[in-house]
Amino acid sequence: MREDRHDVVVVGAGPAGSVTARVLAERGLDVLLIDRNLEIGVPVKCAEGVSKEIKDLVTLDEKWICAEAKGAHIYSPDGTKVVMGEDNMDEVGYVLERRLFDKFLASEAARAGAELRIKTEAYDVIKGDGYVKGVYVRGMDGNTRIHAQIVVGADGVESRVGRWAGMDTRLSPSEVTTCAEYLMCGIEFDREHSEFFVGSNIAPKGYAWVFPKGGDCANVGLGICGDVSGENHRAIDYLNAFVRDKFPKGKIVAEMYGAAPLSGPLKENVADGLVLVGDAARQINPITGGGITYAMHAGEIAGDVIAKAVQEKDCSKKRLKEYESRCKAKFGKRLDAGLKTKEFFFRISDDDLNTLGHSVEGIKIAEINPRALLMELIKKNPKMLLGLARQLL
Ligand SMILES: Cc1cc2nc3c(=O)[nH]c(=O)nc-3n(C[C@H](O)[C@H](O)[C@H](O)COP(=O)(O)OP(=O)(O)OC[C@H]3O[C@@H](n4cnc5c(N)ncnc54)[C@H](O)[C@@H]3O)c2cc1C
Repeated sequence: MREDRHDVVVVGAGPAGSVTARVLAERGLDVLLIDRNLEIGVPVKCAEGVSKEIKDLVTLDEKWICAEAKGAHIYSPDGTKVVMGEDNMDEVGYVLERRLFDKFLASEAARAGAELRIKTEAYDVIKGDGYVKGVYVRGMDGNTRIHAQIVVGADGVESRVGRWAGMDTRLSPSEVTTCAEYLMCGIEFDREHSEFFVGSNIAPKGYAWVFPKGGDCANVGLGICGDVSGENHRAIDYLNAFVRDKFPKGKIVAEMYGAAPLSGPLKENVADGLVLVGDAARQINPITGGGITYAMHAGEIAGDVIAKAVQEKDCSKKRLKEYESRCKAKFGKRLDAGLKTKEFFFRISDDDLNTLGHSVEGIKIAEINPRALLMELIKKNPKMLLGLARQLL
C-alpha cells in the first residue's frame, strides 16, 4: 500500500470540509482535502437557501447566487398565509447554485495551499495509542495509507469517520428527515419569497418548500421525518402529490433525494486526533434543516483550534474540546431552540397549526424574525404554547 503524510487530512469537500481546509492552509499547515465524488458540489442534495448571514462568512459572488428572497411565506394546512421577514431564518435570504458554490469554497482552500484530491474515498481510520492517526483511502491510483496528526470528518449526514474511530454517531429514523426535490421550470410562484407549506397531508412531520432559482424556475421539494416514511408514504410520493396540486403544468428539470440529520448536535464532536464538522457533527437546525452556514461557522472554528493544537503538538481530545465549546457559544442556543421547537411542532395537530396561523394572520410581522414570531404566537396562544415557552425563555 502506498504511504502519504500530511499535518491534517480533511474527509469531505462540502462547505464544512472546504472551510476547515482553507483556514488550516492559511495558517501554514500541510492539509489534504479529499472527496469521493467526481466533481465537487455534485450531486446537489440541497434546497440551496441560506440566510443573509452568509455575507459574514464569504464575499458574495453573483456566479453562485441564483435568487434573492425578501422574506418567507409560511402556509398552514388550511392555506392561511403568514408573512415573514428574512431576518435570521436559516434558509431565507439567497438561493445558491451549490454546484458552483461548493466548488468555489474548495477552490478557496486550494488557493490557500490545501492539496485537493477528488475521486478519493476514505474507508477507515488509522489508529495508534488510542489516537486517530490518519485514514485509509481508495483513489484512482489504488489504496493509500495517509498519516496525519488530525483527521477531520466532514463527510456529511452519512458520516462514517466518527464511527470508525469508535464514536456513536448513529441516527434513529425519528432523527432524520428524508427529502425529495425537483428543480422545476415554467411554473408560477412568488419569485421574491421563499415559501413553506406545512400539514400532515403535505409533509407529515416536515414541510414542503418552493425556493426561487431565478426566472420561472424553483427548487420544489419536501422532507418528512424518517419514522413516518414507508411504502407509498415516501417523500417522493408526497412531492408528486404536492406538484400535481400546485404546479400541474410545470416541467421537471432535475430530481434529487437526500437526508438531513435533525437530532441536534452530537454531545461529543472530538476524540483524540479527530474532529467532526458540519452534518457529520449534526450541526444543522432541527426545525429548518438548514446547515450550510452552521457548517461554515464550524469549519472556521475547527480550522483555528486544529491549527493551534498542531502547533502546540497536542492533538488530544482534551485540547480539541475548545472546538466544541466555541461551536456551542456560537450557535448552540439556536440549534437547541430549533430542536425543542421541532419536537413541539411534530406533536401538534393540523387544527393546532391552523389556529396558530389564524392567530397571526393580518398582523404586520413582515419585519420580524422567527423569535419575534414565536413570541407573538405565545402571546396569542398561551395555553397551547406554554410548555414550549417555558423551555425556550
Ligand atoms: C434535501 C435537502 C435540502 C437541504 N436544504 C438546505 C437549505 O436550503 N439550506 C441549508 O442551509 N441547508 C440545507 N440542507 C442541509 C445542507 O445541505 C447541509 O447541512 C450541508 O451540505 C452540510 O455541509 P457538510 O459539508 O457538512 O456536508 P456535505 O455538504 O454533505 O458534504 C460532505 C462531503 O463529504 C463527501 N464524503 C462523504 N463520505 C466520504 C468519504 N468516505 N470519503 C471522501 N469523501 C466523502 C461527500 O461526497 C460530500 O461531498 C439540505 C439538505 C437536504 C438533504
